Amino acid sequence: MGRMRAYLGRCRVDDVLRCRDRFGGVTLQGLAGLRIARYLDRVGELSGVDLDPAAYRNRPAKPSDQLTLPGIECAPFDWVSAQAELDLPVVRTAGARIRVGRVDDLRAELARDYPVPVSVVLALDAGWLGRRHIDSLEEALRAADRDVSVLFAAAYNPLDTVPKIEAFRRLLRWAADARRDLELLRTDLTGLPAVLEGATGAAIGFSTSTRHLGLPFAAKARDAYNRRKRSPLVFVPRLLHWQRANILGRLAEWDGAGVTYCDCPVCARAGHDLLRFDTIPGELPAGIENEVRDHDEHALAMVIEQILASDNPAAELKFRRINAVQRGRSIGAALDVGLDAPPAWLDGWA
Ligand SMILES: [Zn+2]
Repeated sequence: MGRMRAYLGRCRVDDVLRCRDRFGGVTLQGLAGLRIARYLDRVGELSGVDLDPAAYRNRPAKPSDQLTLPGIECAPFDWVSAQAELDLPVVRTAGARIRVGRVDDLRAELARDYPVPVSVVLALDAGWLGRRHIDSLEEALRAADRDVSVLFAAAYNPLDTVPKIEAFRRLLRWAADARRDLELLRTDLTGLPAVLEGATGAAIGFSTSTRHLGLPFAAKARDAYNRRKRSPLVFVPRLLHWQRANILGRLAEWDGAGVTYCDCPVCARAGHDLLRFDTIPGELPAGIENEVRDHDEHALAMVIEQILASDNPAAELKFRRINAVQRGRSIGAALDVGLDAPPAWLDGWA
């Protein structure tokens, strides 16, 4: 079975060691990630660590933007050799953002030759999972017959509808049939059903910026987002997704309504209740963000471990998903607290 791991954006060496300890593996990002990987290699601590070059974040250079001197060419950084030199378990290509419908770009990215075996990084607009484009995406993967590392770009949640989830599952079936490795980078707990259905791996991010490749918001949505984000997002094990701490706080009147309980080691030391993270915006007590992050990591790792260790992980996950959705719905029906709706995969993943 595939592996779940942590995906870290900006981070320090101690974050990497801690997350490797909790999740068994860590994917680092970009040049800063490479620097950390090289350091870990020097001190003999590189096991369980790999890298997403994440070059898809950069705009393609226009010839007019480049300062060129006659006779001197500036070669793009050789990400593949840099990873091969470190002997990383998977070597990923630099990666390109493939805009929806650009089949030629997709084919070109999949056709490139490398001196060592690689997994081709594809940063796909979520629109590729739409009805009009999924056939050509699947066809290109079939024709190329290579290992791929997929991540999706969207303003919010790339897998936000049942048809998109079904389209993504088609890719998983292609990989299984073709005996190819397909891994999912920059995802959330959606990576778990993907791994249960044959993905070779899924790297989970702990912040909204590492759970998918973000696209710009509309101005109005951005305002609402900024107002809300003053209160930290907290992973709620019983809902299997994240909620704002101030929204959870509205459940205090009902003693947390049965969803704010957490038995991760961080919460166990503090009374088991996520309600404690609700504080006045702008007056976050020192250390609370670290404590939220600590809880998020522990709680996610615990949920994943419990499900994978059960006799029938798929059934266990389904049971918890149904439970989570029902809990969220009954709170929504009975109490006017404004919980975020469950993400589509919780009840849309068949
Ligand atoms: Zn906790």
